[in-house]
Amino acid sequence: MENKHCEHVREDGTRCMSYKQTGKRFCWIHDPDKAVERSVAVRKGGQECIVSKDVEVADGKRIRVTRAKDIRITLVRIMNLLRERKITPTESNALTYTCSCLIRALELQELSKRLDSIAFALSQRDRLSNN
Ligand SMILES: [Zn+2]
Repeated sequence: MENKHCEHVREDGTRCMSYKQTGKRFCWIHDPDKAVERSVAVRKGGQECIVSKDVEVADGKRIRVTRAKDIRITLVRIMNLLRERKITPTESNALTYTCSCLIRALELQELSKRLDSIAFALSQRDRLSNN
């Protein structure tokens, strides 16, 4: 019986358990021909590193940024610190820039999750249409 699972072998030696695409050896995630479409998902690892780091604001409080709401809170804190002249405009600019990078990283992470679920749904559809 033909193995319907992706032929990709992970770094830990285990096989990918996603279904192959029709007529292909790999699932959508591991198909070398799909590299361009996957480019957003490939960056996911780095984004998770950025997003899971704490951001220290000049008032000494550290907050964990995992959601857009955390960034909104941080931006308000930066604005207040600037108004109270507890940080310089240069510091405010740097922190605000960091927040905009984090927002972009969160958006890419969300997009990557959506792409993964679409790839999974397509692999399930391929599997059903092959039976
Ligand atoms: Zn795979």
